[in-house]
Amino acid sequence: MNNGTANKSLLREWTGPLTQELVLHPAGFGLGRVPAHLQPEATTTTVCGFCSTGCGLDAHLRDGKAINLTANTDYPVNLGMACPKGWEALTPLRAPDRATTPLLRNAAGKLEPVDWETAMQVFTLRFKAIQDKCGAEALAWLGTGQICTEELALLGALGKFGMSIIHGDGNTRQCMATAVAAYKESFGFDAPPYTYGDFEQSDVLVFVGSNLCITHPILWQRVLRNRNYPRIIVVDPRKTETAMAATQHVALKPKSDLVLLYGLAHLLITSDWVDHNYISQHTTGFNEFREFVRVFTPDAVAAQTGLTVGELFRFAETIHNGKAVSFWWTMGVNQGHEATRTAQAIINLSLMTGNMGRPGTGANSITGQCNAMGSRLFSNTTNLLGGRDFLKTQHREDVAEILGIPIARIPSKNSLAYDQILQAIADDKIKGLWIVATNTAHSWINQSFVHELRRRLDFLVVQDMFHTTETAQLADLVLPAAGWGEKEGTFINSERRIGLTKKVARAPGHALSDFNIFKLVAHYWGCADLFTRWTSPEAVFQILKKLSAGQPCDFSGVHDYQQLDDCGGIQWPLAQDPDSLNGSHAQESFKPVRERRLFEDGRFFTPDGKARFIFEKPRAQPEAPDEDYPFILLTGRGTSVQWHTGTRTEKSDVLRKLRPSTVYVEINPDDARRFGIASHSKVNVTSRRGTLVAKAFITSTIQPGQVFIPMHYAEANRLTLASFDPYSRQPSYKACAVRVEHRPATRRDKGKSK
Ligand code: SF4
Repeated sequence: MNNGTANKSLLREWTGPLTQELVLHPAGFGLGRVPAHLQPEATTTTVCGFCSTGCGLDAHLRDGKAINLTANTDYPVNLGMACPKGWEALTPLRAPDRATTPLLRNAAGKLEPVDWETAMQVFTLRFKAIQDKCGAEALAWLGTGQICTEELALLGALGKFGMSIIHGDGNTRQCMATAVAAYKESFGFDAPPYTYGDFEQSDVLVFVGSNLCITHPILWQRVLRNRNYPRIIVVDPRKTETAMAATQHVALKPKSDLVLLYGLAHLLITSDWVDHNYISQHTTGFNEFREFVRVFTPDAVAAQTGLTVGELFRFAETIHNGKAVSFWWTMGVNQGHEATRTAQAIINLSLMTGNMGRPGTGANSITGQCNAMGSRLFSNTTNLLGGRDFLKTQHREDVAEILGIPIARIPSKNSLAYDQILQAIADDKIKGLWIVATNTAHSWINQSFVHELRRRLDFLVVQDMFHTTETAQLADLVLPAAGWGEKEGTFINSERRIGLTKKVARAPGHALSDFNIFKLVAHYWGCADLFTRWTSPEAVFQILKKLSAGQPCDFSGVHDYQQLDDCGGIQWPLAQDPDSLNGSHAQESFKPVRERRLFEDGRFFTPDGKARFIFEKPRAQPEAPDEDYPFILLTGRGTSVQWHTGTRTEKSDVLRKLRPSTVYVEINPDDARRFGIASHSKVNVTSRRGTLVAKAFITSTIQPGQVFIPMHYAEANRLTLASFDPYSRQPSYKACAVRVEHRPATRRDKGKSK
């Protein structure tokens, strides 16, 4: 291996050019009082790198670098709007705790700077030694939905085909695995059917486990643009901001959503409020489903959900009266112990009422991270590249041919899921772990288990923008990565829109784009010959087009990055071959229609072209409250200015001012009285796994017997119970048993209050 001259072009990245596709800035931008040296010279459009909404942002540039951002008025997603995270997206790039050089843990246990040459040599030596000693299955990686699709594909191909790592998963497991599992079984492919225009075209919108106002504020703005005076039903135990704006808030008991949805199906069937035509032409399994829901009578469902029979009838009647009913769900569904069946129960309602494939309809999962959809299709973890199956010989042959690699390089077994990888570490089967752009030590369920795992690993590599994340602090080797805005590539948003994100800033110090870090690893590992065509993100995009061809996610009809930029992103599918996908979305013109939904022809991706009714008997939640732990703990997004573990949003003074600075617990006034808890007093919140100290926030938005803690505070996952949906293996963050106790003031507290 010629390490001395290793990929000098990659290592020169920090001196490389910024984006070339600049548009002269229009005059009269309203910046008259801004000093001349701060006025932009040019503007370019990019796509936000926080959430899956995928807003278009205009980056205003001076000397080729972005000096500020505004919301793009022409981008079909956000139409000139952006949430506070988007407006502040440049701020984290300038944070003082950016990782600027590789860091290696020394004999004294301290992380110290090293050069890339050393970092790559140590990476290779340590990981190869583990593989030689313990076998191919002793290494694993945990990736992310936060990096570009081209980078995800390179990591997946490098890991599995180049480095012979069998086990790779990503943080998409924590947010979208349930939707993937549900869609695959019901529709034959992981295919969210909708377009954002459906928010504006429904006359009934049903949100299940989604606080859209907070989690996807721009999508909520799309709802507010709806001119049909829609009925809005929100199913959520909490009276969230979205529930407050609803026509009907269905405040069910936590984790009784599956029973509720089956009860609604029962009511719709017994009232003959179903679309027999749609069911017979486009679905299978309805007769069995009708028999199954017979026992979910209104009385039985009311008893189990805590709702009244009247509320159930009102809900069913609203669905029946709607001409275009759309069903939407997010983490309240996906992060449950029977999440996949719950998502499919929503899909069943949509199918049986014929609310599919028409404007304003659909069973619509809203994604979390900016590139969760890219990860689902191209991370080469759960699926073989392009939504294929590692277990199918034909699929492996297809990928081998497209990539020009020997088929023997492609594993014929599936990866372990995230939780199974962690368990394999606990069982001493996995000894080397590479974590890319995710903060496992904060975000994973039952956090103390994750921290205990550190000592079981022989070598932990963390690749991240910041050297201060809880996970980076545990690493043996930190690889400094460029962040959003410091590299180019594509994201795929919730409505399947492929958007272009651009390099508008230089990464600090010696940080490299994830793409170039993967290329360096390939070089030092000795498998760079497999990736000679993977020269740049745009070259990889052309490879991904070929990998997508003939698949439901076919976007072979997209020309190149320039076309993505010109069109404001393009939704898949857009096939080049008019015969694939029955010609349904073949390339229409250079500028494809801006908004398209799936299943308008009633054909699904199953072998018989029909959607399937899938159902199963509900199961009790894994940890019900009892005398010792009388509350159910709910977790979720706190505010629209907070993003996950806060590694980026906490870097912004503006965003920090807009959120509570310390962990708090929402508790109902009746419970506060019962337990003698005063407003803003400190309380201990304890589960069977740990304790945290929180400020009590007494509010009637939470029901008696329940408490809520936002997930952004590192302590929250000390409490959560590691239970998983059996089909998606997504963690059930939303319900475990806790107790809340008044905490006597300590001397330190008293000192602070003086
Ligand atoms: Fe970015 Fe999401 Fe906010 Fe849009 S809604 S600006 S994509 S964080």
